Amino acid sequence: MRGNIINRTKYLLLAGGVGAAKFVKGIASVVDQEDIAIVVNTGDDIDLFGLKICPDLDIITYTLAGVVDDQKGWGFQDESFNCLNILSKYYGIGWFNAGDKDLATHIFRTDLIAKGFNKYEATQAITQKLGIKARIVPMCNEEFQTYIQTPSGTMHFEEYFIKERCEPRVIKIEFRGNKNARPIKAIFDYIKSAERIIICPSNPIVSIGTILSVLGIKEALKNAHKKVIAISPIIKGATLKGPADKLMEALGHEASCVGVAKYYQDIISHFVIDSEDYDRKIEIDNLGIQAHCFDTIMKDQKKKEDLARFVLDLEL
Ligand code: GDP
Repeated sequence: MRGNIINRTKYLLLAGGVGAAKFVKGIASVVDQEDIAIVVNTGDDIDLFGLKICPDLDIITYTLAGVVDDQKGWGFQDESFNCLNILSKYYGIGWFNAGDKDLATHIFRTDLIAKGFNKYEATQAITQKLGIKARIVPMCNEEFQTYIQTPSGTMHFEEYFIKERCEPRVIKIEFRGNKNARPIKAIFDYIKSAERIIICPSNPIVSIGTILSVLGIKEALKNAHKKVIAISPIIKGATLKGPADKLMEALGHEASCVGVAKYYQDIISHFVIDSEDYDRKIEIDNLGIQAHCFDTIMKDQKKKEDLARFVLDLEL
């Protein structure tokens, strides 16, 4: 049944920030941007300096616009931090980083939202102005913020990630606003129409788990699981960057490609693991998921494109 689908895509991606952006860059180099739609985590979104800041949406946006700072993986290239220096004095917040160009995005988004546009519409406006042809879709319009409970207090994920450098022990992870969050309708059209759905190598809990927690998305992916492929963000039991392994363990999951496969078990039929994890392939196959080994460390443009081609060529 393909009737009444307004929003169509050939490839649908589920994405967090930096890890996902590497894969997004690869796939956008080997297929037309028009053929890609990306549902992005908004659980890291934060209100600071009176501005609506959406870290993952911006990383994916800047990557597709070709303006991202490749060294850091976020923010614009050739940034200056004059505005932030003064804002930090006014607000007494010294841990959050945002360059002058980046702040322009936050100002534009905040202005649109103040004028009555929702986050989805604001995202479409930003991506259009930056000349992006792929469709970038926030997982929901509502306020949804991830909080981390630690022995020294409960804090917003960005504070835990940047200010605390993911050091405190994690007691609990809270998805605040999750009960009121409603998925952007286009997401269901994209799930139905996509030839392939790809879960990028992102933090399974706070980047993909947030998306899956929004009403109806997990169920829709379950129904489409035959065309869903995930890429493991965990290699040899560790993350390349960020707290994915620690958060997996905090929630009682094994921090390994097998742990991630189990976490995604209901919604995927294929799982790309790193060749270094070859010895774990059989355990994943035994879950009823076809595991595929490949060099998944996207350290340069060629590796990004090679991984994208591998995922696109997998026989479903
Ligand atoms: P974040 O904003 O950095 O949390 O970005 P994501 O949520 O997208 O994901 C971070 C995850 O991506 C971490 O678990 C990393 O191990 C993983 N990651 C980053 N780069 C790569 C890569 O080149 N290959 C693979 N397989 N995983 C990666």
